[in-house]
Amino acid sequence: MKFATKAIHAGVHPDPETGAIMTPIYQTSTYVQRSPGDHRGYEYSRTHNPTRTQLQNAVAALENGKHGLAFASGMAAIDCLLKLFSPGDEIISTNDLYGGSYRLFTKVYEPLGLKFHFVPMHDMAAVREKVSSRTKLIWVETPTNPLLNVIDIAAAAAIAKEAGALLAVDNTFSTPYIQTPLDLGADIVMHSLTKYMAGHSDTVMGALVVQDDAVAERLRFYQNACGGTPGPQDCFLVLRGLKTLHLRMQRHCENGRAIAEYLRQHPKVEKVFWPGFESHPNHAVAAKQMRDFGGMISFVLKGDRKEDAVAVLEKFQLFALAESLGGVESLCGHPATMTHASIPAAERLKAGLSDSLIRLSVGIEDAEDLIDDLAQAIG
Ligand SMILES: *Cc1c(COP(=O)(O)O)cnc(C)c1O
Repeated sequence: MKFATKAIHAGVHPDPETGAIMTPIYQTSTYVQRSPGDHRGYEYSRTHNPTRTQLQNAVAALENGKHGLAFASGMAAIDCLLKLFSPGDEIISTNDLYGGSYRLFTKVYEPLGLKFHFVPMHDMAAVREKVSSRTKLIWVETPTNPLLNVIDIAAAAAIAKEAGALLAVDNTFSTPYIQTPLDLGADIVMHSLTKYMAGHSDTVMGALVVQDDAVAERLRFYQNACGGTPGPQDCFLVLRGLKTLHLRMQRHCENGRAIAEYLRQHPKVEKVFWPGFESHPNHAVAAKQMRDFGGMISFVLKGDRKEDAVAVLEKFQLFALAESLGGVESLCGHPATMTHASIPAAERLKAGLSDSLIRLSVGIEDAEDLIDDLAQAIG
């Protein structure tokens, strides 16, 4: 099955009871048993729920994976994954990553005994340098947030394999429309379904997709034992969103290109970060592993003053100033004070994330209107 057909049909089936074509919202906590232990695969909704089952299967199918697990948020998905590891285990992570992931790693799991190495992963030598017999996981987010560096997934997979470690990829920014990390050798894909996958800024949810049966079994145990599972209504909203994933992503990518090109020639713009440019330092890797380049763009203004960036953000009419990304509407943000405020200033600057950086999540409106808004805001 090709991608668009999968987005609409894979993992879901009409309701066996009524023929309802959309997966019903099974708003129930429990399921009647015929005799003790004699049930139809559903006992209690923390463990299993039919709406969630179909969503998990749909996400797994889109990622070309075997097992899907859904969670109440992207963070709950990462939290579940980290439960696979024990004190003394080491994890190598990209240094330019989602602020919430950095906070979970350093404020929750480091005190529990996991050791994290944050390295600039567009340089694989930096990864190899940190590999040891204690390395159990390599954590990749690509393109990175908010600097849009691109990490070579196949190269990271080769290092992980040699080290006997797992490779997990946060595929939130790209979605399987753009890249499928499992096809490139990753063991686990993580999603904040909140973003492009749900696509309508109306729910918070996360997922893991896994190939290996034994790893999936352990993750399912933690999913149920710790209980960070989503409700059926949220699963329904993501299932509905997935049906237009290919159409939305196509437009996000087209608009992203138009806006990146507009910004690049703007006299007041110093630098534009977007992996589709041939001049992007990791463009060769991007062209190899991505089918398109997405709608996430960051840029810095000439003079690199925070006040100028704030003035632009305040002037936007269409781009809404808000956290999050990946919805149908265009958003703008100031990573240093918003999404990445939980990363200490010194760490942030070291990673190249300057105080005047503006991040755009380009929506699926008419590109001309978005460009007009940029023109009036930047001046
Ligand atoms: C939003 C986001 C997360 C966290 O997901 P939530 O659904 O907000 O918990 C993780 N990684 C990336 C790249 C994100 O954008």
